[in-house]
Amino acid sequence: MQHLIHSIGVVSSPYTQKFGIPRQPQLVPAAKICITLNPEFSMDSVRGLDGFEYIWVQFLFHDAVAEGWAEMVRPPRLGGKKKMGVFATRSPHRPNHMGLSLLPLERVDNLNGRVQIWCKGGDLLDGTPVLDIKPYIPFVEAKPDAQAGFVSGAPEKLAIEWQPESGVGQLSTEMRELIEQSIAQDPRPAYQEIPERVYGMEIAGFDVKFRVVGNTAVILSC
Ligand code: SAM
Repeated sequence: MQHLIHSIGVVSSPYTQKFGIPRQPQLVPAAKICITLNPEFSMDSVRGLDGFEYIWVQFLFHDAVAEGWAEMVRPPRLGGKKKMGVFATRSPHRPNHMGLSLLPLERVDNLNGRVQIWCKGGDLLDGTPVLDIKPYIPFVEAKPDAQAGFVSGAPEKLAIEWQPESGVGQLSTEMRELIEQSIAQDPRPAYQEIPERVYGMEIAGFDVKFRVVGNTAVILSC
């Protein structure tokens, strides 16, 4: 059966390329995103939403559609070495390329007649099409003691060091936090341990270069 789905809005995110996007929501609290709803949605469509602290955002992994999908994938949490069934993972390479993120809601605005929904801790690429938004209801949805299969606890973070000539002094506090929190997540592919390799990441218009030595990311320039 085929079903036609239209997106309801689009994400503005500091992440303009896939490399370096956090692997799950809320891992980088400084990653603020804004969902702008399509013009057909008025403030009536979000009446009551601002009373909720978290929202579920359903979206399309639009930049993975052309890459197709696979029945088994290699989750980064398993070092990229072991395969798991796609439905046991949060991989973008799934049959309908649909994603789901639980995000802290900051505020809902109306800008020139367009509804804007601001959230923290996004794990979404700039331009991501949004399919639906729902409030998070803790008494039914919070299950903190549930088993989590092969995903146990939050991943280890890298320590951050800035090279003196990196340009860190020109950054606002918010931008510095965003870069540090993003790189601390260790964006490298799971199997890479090459201390001399320089990685590049575009974030909010900054071209950030870094290396990883042991458990420390050294930021070379931004
Ligand atoms: N929380 C969501 C979920 O569970 O469905 C996303 C988890 S997925 C593992 C997160 C990764 O998806 C990010 O690190 C980024 O590489 C990728 N991603 C985010 N937005 C995307 C998009 N619009 N198209 C393709 N890949 C995207």
